Amino acid sequence: MLYCSKCRAICDNAARCPNCRNPKLRPVDPEDLVLLHSADLYTAQQVQERLALDGIRCQVEDFAKGGVSCFYDSQVMPTDKSLYVPYRQLEEARVISAQVGREVEHEMEQAPPEPPGAKRIIGEILSVVVFLLLIMAAVFGADAAANWLKGLFA
Ligand SMILES: [Zn+2]
Repeated sequence: MLYCSKCRAICDNAARCPNCRNPKLRPVDPEDLVLLHSADLYTAQQVQERLALDGIRCQVEDFAKGGVSCFYDSQVMPTDKSLYVPYRQLEEARVISAQVGREVEHEMEQAPPEPPGAKRIIGEILSVVVFLLLIMAAVFGADAAANWLKGLFA
């Protein structure tokens, strides 16, 4: 495994870091902090607490500071955190974080504060209603205008 000390990604046998294109890679050291993953603030805290219970040192940094991009999906929040763990504990940390991730997901399902899709659906319904109102206004407005013109020339 090679290690990029610039963005703390690891990779197999590459000439450049697949993440930040840094050409200066070195063999990874067991104590090197490597990126576990990024997460929203809440999940990051949960993962960090759980890792601490298992004796895994976890460093949490602001997502932006990490400067890592391609490991993440597009839904990145400014409050997102990046979690780094020592390479020797990476596998263990991955198992724990996957477990915490499932728990957090489950929690969200149990008590949805507001399903993320709901606002969008309401917005879509509203825009349809507004659209229909505009058509009705155009139709009835044209009708009224035509009647008014008829009245003028009658
Ligand atoms: Zn890199």
